[in-house]
Amino acid sequence: MDRRKEGAGLKAEIIAVGTELLMGETQDTNSSWVGSRFPEIGLEPQWVTIVGDDLTRLTDIVDRAWCRSDVVLTIGGLGPTLDDLTRDAIAKMFGEEITTDPSLAAWLEESFARRGTTPMPKQNLRQAGMIPSAVTVPNPLGTAPSWWIERDGKILVTMPGPPREMMNMWTTEMAPRLKARIPGQAIMSRMFKTIGLSEAAVDEMVGEVYGMDGVEMGVYAKPDGIYVRAISKAATEPLAHKTLMAAEEKIRAALGEYIWGTDEEEPPKRVGDLLKARKYTVAVMESCTGGMLGSAITDISGSSNYFVGGAITYTEASKIAAGVPAETLERFGVYSREVAGAMARAARETFGADCGVSVTGIAGGEDLTAPDGTEIKGGTVFIGVAHPNGVVVEEYRFPSRRALVRNRAVTAALLQLAQVIK
Ligand code: AMP
Ligand code: MG
Repeated sequence: MDRRKEGAGLKAEIIAVGTELLMGETQDTNSSWVGSRFPEIGLEPQWVTIVGDDLTRLTDIVDRAWCRSDVVLTIGGLGPTLDDLTRDAIAKMFGEEITTDPSLAAWLEESFARRGTTPMPKQNLRQAGMIPSAVTVPNPLGTAPSWWIERDGKILVTMPGPPREMMNMWTTEMAPRLKARIPGQAIMSRMFKTIGLSEAAVDEMVGEVYGMDGVEMGVYAKPDGIYVRAISKAATEPLAHKTLMAAEEKIRAALGEYIWGTDEEEPPKRVGDLLKARKYTVAVMESCTGGMLGSAITDISGSSNYFVGGAITYTEASKIAAGVPAETLERFGVYSREVAGAMARAARETFGADCGVSVTGIAGGEDLTAPDGTEIKGGTVFIGVAHPNGVVVEEYRFPSRRALVRNRAVTAALLQLAQVIK
């Protein structure tokens, strides 16, 4: 859910160029990557268009975009081949002639020579084409330089299609240049990451912040929980900062302990830092997450300093073989606090680690009955953390969709471990 107010920044649009995008052979990942970064610099995304490599349709959409938006960004179609027509369409739309820029041509020749691919194919000279209204923006990662056109209080820029080149050009060139052109607009944003609540519950709890002046809010369901983004806009940076702090205070008051991190914070990194600080090692025993917990812990480079190993014990027999007492399984059932605790202890002992973490639960949607007759709902997960001073077991209820249950169980297990050892 996203209730951002419209009309806050300059109207901007993206034109993604390429028949392969239109036909679905290549996913248009560039538009969402750039579009999601517009608000940070005060641009309001208005339209994304995908258009094939066709001069008539391309010219038509460039013309339409130029009429209706303040900032137009084309992506792709800057290559040397005859089907790369973005430059031609823009020139046609402005009624200008493309000529070869001698210094660009020399730069292209040089970069080909440096890579040992000489002589440069004639076709590459297309990438040295310029029109009077454009200035070039260098592209250090590729052969296609970009055009920057500023006319009639509007801006049109071209960006290369290969995602790596596009991201680099946006970050190093286009975003700073555009930001400098957007007057009196300071923008700050912060992401709050929660777990244990539904999207609707989070939305309701932060309802008060939606009404704040100068603040835009968005609530998003992510694999590892629900995120809340607050963006503040003001004429100056101190003012934007003040507004964001006021919003943060309200968000924290509303969501309290459900918030586990902000912005770039990730549980595997936090757990790694804590384990290193305490000089603890950890081992895991996983059922419903099938190895995802161990995988998340070992995503962090240097995790061999604290991660000992783990077992994926999917059946009762394998749990018993890994050190869970058969009697505990029989008496309490596999989805129980007691078994989660026994698994965590067994992980700790079997692997000789300081801490053991266990996950057992119902990843599928179906409800089950425990040995004592109580019903266990799909999405119920028990997580145990055994540590030098005891065992902590928690019960979680996640939305009972398999992928979500497994992802959120991993996040919850890491956060529970962090909580215990912090
Ligand atoms: P082009 O600049 O059109 O020659 O594109 C160069 C490469 O970038 C091709 O492999 C395209 O498939 C890829 N590409 C172009 N546009 C996009 C996009 N919007 N998203 C992802 N990849 C793209
Ligand atoms: Mg192309």
